Amino acid sequence: MAVHLSEKLEATYQKILKRNPGETEFHQAVREVLESLGPVLVKYPEFTDRKIIERICEPERQIIFRVPWQDDRGEDHINRGFRVQFNSALGPYKGGLRFHPSVYLGIVKFLGFEQIFKNALTGMPIGGGKGGSDFDPKGKSDNEVMRFCQSFMTELWRYVGEYTDVPAGDIGVGGREIGYMFGQFKRLTSKYEAGVLTGKGLDYGGSLVRTEATGYGATFFVDEMLKVRKDSFEGKKCVVSGSGNVAIYTVEKIHQLGGRVVAVSDSDGYVVDEKGIDVALLKQLKEVERRRIKDYADARKHAHYVHGGNIWEVPCQVAMPSATQNEINGKDATTLVKNGCIAVGEGANMPTTPEGIKVFLDAKISYGPGKAANAGGVATSALEMQQNATRDSWTFEYTEKRLGEIMRNIHRTCFEAAEEFGAPGNYVVGANTAGFIKVAKAMVAHGLI
Ligand code: NDP
Repeated sequence: MAVHLSEKLEATYQKILKRNPGETEFHQAVREVLESLGPVLVKYPEFTDRKIIERICEPERQIIFRVPWQDDRGEDHINRGFRVQFNSALGPYKGGLRFHPSVYLGIVKFLGFEQIFKNALTGMPIGGGKGGSDFDPKGKSDNEVMRFCQSFMTELWRYVGEYTDVPAGDIGVGGREIGYMFGQFKRLTSKYEAGVLTGKGLDYGGSLVRTEATGYGATFFVDEMLKVRKDSFEGKKCVVSGSGNVAIYTVEKIHQLGGRVVAVSDSDGYVVDEKGIDVALLKQLKEVERRRIKDYADARKHAHYVHGGNIWEVPCQVAMPSATQNEINGKDATTLVKNGCIAVGEGANMPTTPEGIKVFLDAKISYGPGKAANAGGVATSALEMQQNATRDSWTFEYTEKRLGEIMRNIHRTCFEAAEEFGAPGNYVVGANTAGFIKVAKAMVAHGLI
């Protein structure tokens, strides 16, 4: 099923598999990038001479640490913390922290690896990194989450900073967690270094539009892909998986652009509302009350809830996976195409398996991979860093306008790179080649480090 690699690239890939045993998500992310790079290495032989692929696949630094904390009953718990500082060719390491029980080194490395190219595509001066913990914030009290975050930062503070490494949120890490970590960083360092974390609250250095940015940005990206097809969101039936930060603001922007989202999900099941998902209700349930998606159907009687099940069976013209990795397999992709889906924009990171991607590309639907489509979040984090550096804060309108420009640029960059490297309309090739070339050129310029 996988695309053939040249003998040299295959040998490099086999070495990477051997050096990183058991890290299946990392292998998948690396393979996908290598599959796009054949023509790039022909055009730039210096990348092979300087061993750029071998270097780019080896993180500059990996930090793994113990995170002890106590629950409300006084019982002690031990979790594992990670920060992978993958590549600093373009700027300080930048990438979120994920708190989810499934987190292990292979997940953090796949996310960190993708982040390098995503950050390059934004055109902002940021390197790539990622981190997190196998801690599960679900069902924990605010005090338990605070104690965990404080313990996590008690180790992490030595490795992060405005000019070194700037973490943000991801699954399980939102404004509440960033606030607790920022507080602990400030206490440990005696410094008010606002630029050390992004996704901060608006009262203490956060940026307007950061909360909305990933979902809005992914929707802008799909809008651009639809324009290429001489089409738009107007009247389109859409499905968005997940019901967290990315999903909520994807739904909101799709509705503003004239589309109608009929289904959203969480890890227990999905809800269908043919009248269009009520965003205010979704925010209330998920952001304020931290409830389950099932409760949406209890509040909107015409909607129905499906426990378990598969959200990709709900017919739609636009699909925006916004939950987690590998949530669309080959069979799901086939179902989507059969049901008339013409565009897929990934809010989540690597939500489609290699088999699923092949189905989308073969069917010639517009497929926007995560490292391009969901780059609006990190791009707005970079805008937050700019505001922190100048002690300024911009209006919502101005910041959203900047986000829109960045997403249109990313779309154009990917579109043009795909044409240049012989794969017109293939945004996977476009994103991988354009992102890689930018980082590789900087690495060559920096010498062998
Ligand atoms: P949240 O924690 O806010 O929401 C995650 C959502 O996805 C929840 O509805 C959750 O359901 C669901 N979900 C998580 N894991 C699984 C799973 N294993 N199976 C099924 N459903 C799952 O995270 P975000 O919205 O921030 O992140 C969503 C995706 O977007 C991730 O892939 C993330 O890496 C990516 N992303 C996020 C960015 C951001 O700015 N936040 C930036 C770029 C990408 P439940 O509550 O039941 O767990």
